[in-house]
Amino acid sequence: MLYDLLILGGGPGGYTAAERAGQAGLKVALFEKDALGGVCLNEGCIPTKTMLNSAKLYDHANNSEVFAVKSLEVSFNQAQVVKRKNKVVKTLIGGVKAKMKNNGVEVIKAEASICGKEDDLFRVDALNEKYLGKNLLIATGSVPAVPPIPGLKEGLESGFVVTNKGILDLEEIPEKMTVIGGGVIGLEMACYFQTVGSKVTVIEMQDHIAGTTDSQIGNMLQNIYTKKGINFLLEAKVTEVSDGYVSYELADESAGIAADIVLLSVGRRPVIEGYGLESLGVEVEGGAIKTDAQCRTNIPGVYAAGDVNGRWMLAHAASREAETAVNTMLGKEDEMSYNNCPGVIYTNPEVAYVGATTEELDLQGRPYKMVEIPFSYSGRYMAETNREQSLCKLIVDGDDQTLIGCHLLGPYVSEIIITAGIMIERKMTMEEIKKQIFPHPTVAEIIREGIFLLKS
Ligand SMILES: Cc1cc2nc3c(=O)[nH]c(=O)nc-3n(C[C@H](O)[C@H](O)[C@H](O)COP(=O)(O)OP(=O)(O)OC[C@H]3O[C@@H](n4cnc5c(N)ncnc54)[C@H](O)[C@@H]3O)c2cc1C
Repeated sequence: MLYDLLILGGGPGGYTAAERAGQAGLKVALFEKDALGGVCLNEGCIPTKTMLNSAKLYDHANNSEVFAVKSLEVSFNQAQVVKRKNKVVKTLIGGVKAKMKNNGVEVIKAEASICGKEDDLFRVDALNEKYLGKNLLIATGSVPAVPPIPGLKEGLESGFVVTNKGILDLEEIPEKMTVIGGGVIGLEMACYFQTVGSKVTVIEMQDHIAGTTDSQIGNMLQNIYTKKGINFLLEAKVTEVSDGYVSYELADESAGIAADIVLLSVGRRPVIEGYGLESLGVEVEGGAIKTDAQCRTNIPGVYAAGDVNGRWMLAHAASREAETAVNTMLGKEDEMSYNNCPGVIYTNPEVAYVGATTEELDLQGRPYKMVEIPFSYSGRYMAETNREQSLCKLIVDGDDQTLIGCHLLGPYVSEIIITAGIMIERKMTMEEIKKQIFPHPTVAEIIREGIFLLKS
């Protein structure tokens, strides 16, 4: 069977590429060994946000008196949350299936293997069938990293330790939960379980949470959740996991904590093995497929998009990379612009950011101006919140006055950050941003307020 494009992996990278290529009239085969939608739909973005919304509503209900609303009895039903989450996931997967069908994409539910080239075409085998393609896109995604900690493997087997997948199907709220890793996934789940009643401890090896997020915002988030009850152990190294117990070292002292369940969230590893990459000689660097700005690998006609390239490991980066790869195949000019790729942590309040951090700029010695303001400048924020800690940090290039960074901690910021992303991508100057009309009252107005506080 001859195709224009063969795609390995049906996550946001794979299915977006399939949809766009199908829309452009290419004959496409998409191979997915597990469930269409990949990690994002089945065990990542969508299930976590569905569950976090229930936790947010629960939190609102418990703290509604300040808004003159008294809830007499508030309860939380974890089993029903999981049921609803599964329904949302099923509906969205149905949507992806429909898109594939409507665009003539052939979906093959099977593990695919690359078997080099045949007659100058790429050969992929699945279910004992041979598929030949003019182009090949690798979108095999990532899996949780499992460090060699004694007892971890056994813990994963027994169910005492779970990864992002197992945690989403817990039908009961554990009393005591330990989260290994204070990055985005660990924080979102810590936030969820703390809100709905678990006593949560987060063990993080670095001296801060939230990875490369602006350090001030990361610290503020840590303070907020410390007040809510999460126990953060920073610069702490887990040394062993045994049934019901997590041992760690902190400041050269050995200690331990009892847990009913452990979430392992120390990062993710691109899937680059076991499906024949070597048969084509695709270059791998640092455990990920090496790609250029057009998402091309070192082999002409072979592209890679999504987590497998180890760059941004976010669903929206995966889908944009997929589009860039398809456009390049079609001979259209396109390239990835990672500068305007936003990141979000769906805690409550949320964190969202795009562009440079002051830490990066200081390291580069690049001149910049910066303003920091609390969200209390926004009328909508004042109307709708109880004035939790918040921050808007805007960074403008010291030479040409264009916006180069925006870091937010506050409500709705996941929905606002695209505004700053577009401004950064369009290289908008402070003066141009001042002329934009923001709807009032909205929390997004904080960006306008901040820009006016910056001196030209
Ligand atoms: C808990 C969690 C929460 C997250 N939340 C967010 C979020 O809020 N926002 C966000 O942007 N990102 C989020 N992410 C990240 C996001 O899920 C990933 O960046 C995204 O799924 C990557 O898409 P992908 O297409 O590269 O790979 P994946 O979604 O990993 O899909 C790859 C697919 O390839 C298939 N596959 C692998 N090998 C083969 C083979 N040989 N043959 C056939 N099929 C194969 C796999 O079965 C898988 O379905 C989250 C991740 C996790 C774990």
